[in-house]
Amino acid sequence: MTDVDVAIVGAGAAGLAAATMLREAGRSTLILEASSAPGGRARTSFPPVLGGAWLDEGAAWLHQAEQNPLVPLARQAGHRLTPAFRSESRLYIDGRLATAAEHAAYERAEARWTETVIARTAEGGPDIDVATAAGPLRLSDPWVPTLEAWSASLIDAVDAPRLSLADWNTNQLDGTNLNPPNGLGRLLRDLLEEPAGPIRYGAVVRRIGWNGGGVAVETAEGSVSAGAVIVTVSTGVLASGLIAFDPVLPAEAQAAIADLPMGLLSRVVLRASGDDRLGMDAGTMAFRQVRRFGDPFMSFIAWPRGTDHVIGFVGGDAAWKLAPDPAAATDFARAEWRALFGAEADSNFAPGSFTTDWGTDPYNLGAYSYARPGGAGARAALTLPLGDGRLLFAGEACRTDGLAGTVGGAVLDGRRAAAAILEQGAGGHR
Ligand SMILES: Cc1cc2nc3c(=O)[nH]c(=O)nc-3n(C[C@H](O)[C@H](O)[C@H](O)COP(=O)(O)OP(=O)(O)OC[C@H]3O[C@@H](n4cnc5c(N)ncnc54)[C@H](O)[C@@H]3O)c2cc1C
Repeated sequence: MTDVDVAIVGAGAAGLAAATMLREAGRSTLILEASSAPGGRARTSFPPVLGGAWLDEGAAWLHQAEQNPLVPLARQAGHRLTPAFRSESRLYIDGRLATAAEHAAYERAEARWTETVIARTAEGGPDIDVATAAGPLRLSDPWVPTLEAWSASLIDAVDAPRLSLADWNTNQLDGTNLNPPNGLGRLLRDLLEEPAGPIRYGAVVRRIGWNGGGVAVETAEGSVSAGAVIVTVSTGVLASGLIAFDPVLPAEAQAAIADLPMGLLSRVVLRASGDDRLGMDAGTMAFRQVRRFGDPFMSFIAWPRGTDHVIGFVGGDAAWKLAPDPAAATDFARAEWRALFGAEADSNFAPGSFTTDWGTDPYNLGAYSYARPGGAGARAALTLPLGDGRLLFAGEACRTDGLAGTVGGAVLDGRRAAAAILEQGAGGHR
């Protein structure tokens, strides 16, 4: 039995930030982390198939730099952040590069679609889904399937008919995007692991008792008793029942979790077999026109940082379908690449690939949360302290400021939960 002021479940951005703030205020903390490393869904790794190049498997971009708490922290620590998405974006139609006029038509369609959908949010009324919000444009404009594939399935990791319009609109992330030089997972680790204090790795929390003066946080290796607990696991993990709450969570909290399911965004990485870079500069983004709604779709970033690999991104229903089968995901990536560059382009790649496992890893169960239509209020509902402030949820899913689903939002939310504990004086009495 270990005894601390505040126990924290999860060593992702939210958990690390919460622990840091509590420790600075003189509280004792212990983070319990199921996996063997800090960072959670921000993970920089070196997949063997990439021959030494690093890969951000999850979060890669510091979104909304103007509001992102990691940006000043990184700069103070001397990290040089570079603007993201500076390379060309290439649209392909039926196996050929679109003309300049077609690229321009696509951009006009994007502006029209965004304007139409945003106008629906301004109308008030019930929180409908993003697909319905496009109205007649969905039937008349041939670019809308591509725009939905990008704006919903890839960016929000869920297909448009299942995504709350209000939540989509709140989390537009239309500010500046920056990249850290050595990966976002690595940056998070460098900045936040040490100040967060003790972390117990391989500690899978299975039960949280919160009925009484303090809390009991139980793992297979033992129990931690604390004045309060901050739970930062994903809403996918919460919904899975991996952690039993005793007493069970109030109906409002359960409804909030159900209204914030996890979307899925997967990366499939292929490595070049030779020197042919198909005339594309480092970081070129390539994608094709989507003809039908729900057609599985992949966009690519070619040769990031001058490396010899391409990263394919697949999101929403298509990603969930491929999640249990990395070989099928690789076949899909190769087929999508052929759809852009022709059958012979398949020989650009060496055998083997790397596919992320966010959908199947029991400690993530998805990439990031989205709100169901009608569920946009769930993020605020999940922040409400339970048991006189002894039990708090925190993390990306709890943000209501436009940073839901981001690392920056998770950091801010860990701090929010820590501040709530300090304000209420909870977590000090055991
Ligand atoms: C593919 C992908 C791309 C993304 N792209 C971006 C991006 O470019 N920019 C951006 O800002 N964000 C991006 N995100 C989102 C971002 O990674 C998350 O919003 C953020 O990292 C979430 O932090 P968190 O602390 O809320 O949760 P997490 O990082 O999930 O932390 C929770 C921790 O809890 C642990 N845990 C789970 N269950 C248990 C248990 N029972 N006991 C103990 N520990 C447990 C987990 O292992 C994890 O470490 C992306 C995510 C993915 C997956």
